[in-house]
Amino acid sequence: SLQKEGQTPELKDGKGFKGHDMLAPFTAGWQSNDLHPLVIEKSEGCYVYDINGNKFLDSLAGLWCTALGGNEPRLVAAATKQLDTLPFYHSFWNRTTKPSLDLAKDILEIFTARKMGKVFFTNSGSEANDTQVKLVWYYNNALGRPNKKKFIARAKSYHGSTLISASLSGLPALHQKFDLPAPFVLHTDCPHYWRFHLPGETEEEFSTRLAKNLENLILKEGPETIAAFIAEPVMGAGGVIPPPATYFEKVQAVVKKYDILFIADEVICAFGRLGTMFGCDKYNITPDLVSVAKALSSAYMPIGAVLVSPEISEVIHSQSNKLGSFSHGFTYSGHPVSCAVAVEALKLYKEKNIAEYVKSVSPKFQNGLKAFSDSPIIGEIRGTGLILGTEFTDNKSPNDLFPPEWGIGAYFGAQCEKRGMLVRVAGDNIMMSPPLIITPEEIDELISIYGDALRATE
Ligand code: PLP
Repeated sequence: SLQKEGQTPELKDGKGFKGHDMLAPFTAGWQSNDLHPLVIEKSEGCYVYDINGNKFLDSLAGLWCTALGGNEPRLVAAATKQLDTLPFYHSFWNRTTKPSLDLAKDILEIFTARKMGKVFFTNSGSEANDTQVKLVWYYNNALGRPNKKKFIARAKSYHGSTLISASLSGLPALHQKFDLPAPFVLHTDCPHYWRFHLPGETEEEFSTRLAKNLENLILKEGPETIAAFIAEPVMGAGGVIPPPATYFEKVQAVVKKYDILFIADEVICAFGRLGTMFGCDKYNITPDLVSVAKALSSAYMPIGAVLVSPEISEVIHSQSNKLGSFSHGFTYSGHPVSCAVAVEALKLYKEKNIAEYVKSVSPKFQNGLKAFSDSPIIGEIRGTGLILGTEFTDNKSPNDLFPPEWGIGAYFGAQCEKRGMLVRVAGDNIMMSPPLIITPEEIDELISIYGDALRATE
């Protein structure tokens, strides 16, 4: 280990050193030059270990991504074999590699919510969503509708942190001081029933109102200016928000009416997380474009992908033939090692019947945790499949927030960590999305630590 080899003596105990050399992503406090990061060294199944050998149940699967857990030997073997054979070749200019061809074929086969035409590879979910915007603009330019360029996304959505994907995201922290969102992005309502429904309004009525608001926004801007609508089937980073009843049915009807493309951001939901292979399957979404990443390779190698409908691929092909090429891509688009690992991950999902497995264990996970809903400091516990969010508020009300300086969420997170479990904390929201291979016994352990941490926080 680093510690044993003495390479970074200042990391001893992971504490007591002043700062480090990383400008770390989404990290508070580095200005103080007094960071005490938890330094993770090893993973095994649903557990990770820090440099001092402390073991943690990883309730967020890294960042919602290590679906097959921490040490799946077949993914390691797939990477090693590919590294031994061909560590890299690109996919530009009609050259490519076998793993990327295989993976594109496998992805198209596995996505059955509707027939898709082609796959474009990226390195991440953010790049996938950036690519979506460029594809849609290119498509509308090819169709001779240069004004149909605006995107509608939703408040509290997360679509990534590059310029475009952060613009699409509906979280103010991603915009503040970055001069974002870009002007072509509009935001419509967050579909969080508990927080935003009117007195007496049912879920269906709430969905009807949100679809109407979306339609009003489209009409106000002019339907001829709106290119696409993007949505996560279940919102993740915004606090785990499953859609209210009939929401996607109603929203899809509106966007279809105005010839607006539907983009499903499946970066978290794809490959079994909700108990179906894709979020689109669960909510009867028939998208024009889909973004995937994370569990595509179980996060063992960076990779993302965009699935493109046959109609859009067709237009893009004929346009790029006219122009000479489709001038968009990354050095590592279709990286052979990432693709080889992803091919193996998809095989494992199939062999393990992963969506069915999630369906079979998720009632234990969901019901076990939702049993804590009566806690006086919990406003709402929500989730489906193997994804769940807890929101701390007072008086069971979405409006009675605890003073931020109390740091309830952070305190709860620290209590979990003390008891050997890592959770995602965002203010007074706690998020969990364990590896999909989690066993019933590990779910019991997760629930037990959650309960103990909650009692210590109350
Ligand atoms: N889209 C969604 C729904 C996500 O949850 C994320 C990351 O959490 C992204 C896009 C961005 O993916 P990446 O971090 O791989 O760029």
